[in-house]
Amino acid sequence: MRYTHMGKILLRWLSYWPLGPAILALAAAAVAVLEQLAPWHRPWRTDQGDLRTDVLHFLGNVLVSQTAVVAYTGLMDLRGPGLWPHEAPLWLQILGALLVFDLGLYAVHRASHGVGPLWKLHAIHHSAPRLYWLNGQRRHLLHEMLEGLPGMAVLGLLGAPGPVLGGAIALVTLHLLLQHANLDYRVGPLRHLLATAEVHRWHHQRRWQEVQGNYAAVFSFWDHLLGTWLPVRGEAPPDVGMDDEPDLPMDWLGQLTWPFGRRARR
Ligand SMILES: [Zn+2]
Repeated sequence: MRYTHMGKILLRWLSYWPLGPAILALAAAAVAVLEQLAPWHRPWRTDQGDLRTDVLHFLGNVLVSQTAVVAYTGLMDLRGPGLWPHEAPLWLQILGALLVFDLGLYAVHRASHGVGPLWKLHAIHHSAPRLYWLNGQRRHLLHEMLEGLPGMAVLGLLGAPGPVLGGAIALVTLHLLLQHANLDYRVGPLRHLLATAEVHRWHHQRRWQEVQGNYAAVFSFWDHLLGTWLPVRGEAPPDVGMDDEPDLPMDWLGQLTWPFGRRARR
């Protein structure tokens, strides 16, 4: 494998504590400050009883994803190179891994809108009463693991190195900050390439029937290619949440146990 000196340093540390979480914390702080300066919807700038729950989801899910990268790296150290193009430039390897991983996220997300038990896990993400930097990670711990599994399995079979997967997951995590950000930004025609906030807000409308599309996490062209692009015009209204799950609790522990309770299984 040919890497520059900087690339070697990155490879050694990219997927490990504490650099990954430190970069993420800085990026999160930057988006949080920008939201105060240029909000898309002003009332979403303040805590609506969701902040504590979102902080706990955020910490739990980052812990899961970082642990998964470390475990994956250990496993990949034990196996051969596989079909993965190890000689390609690092950025190209990370982009390739991101495409594979993102398609896995799309597949699980789409299935989660059609399969009952998966929906109960995913409904927690849709319960957010506003969209802001933190609630891209308002997701059930089990759903977090399920979402990452297909991409990691394919990349593992191909023989992608752990730091390459770590780089791809870091980009996904950073993108989720911006995808859910309460930031007044638009990207024009690039929204057909990247699933930015203006695309994703349509996926958080209050009625279940209205949110069966725009499933992409990073690359919105998956929705175009696979027929799930929502044919909407203009801006989504700031009317988010999930009317169809009125029993869903708003506290962290309640949200983790709710999919397995009697009410959720009816
Ligand atoms: Zn969804």
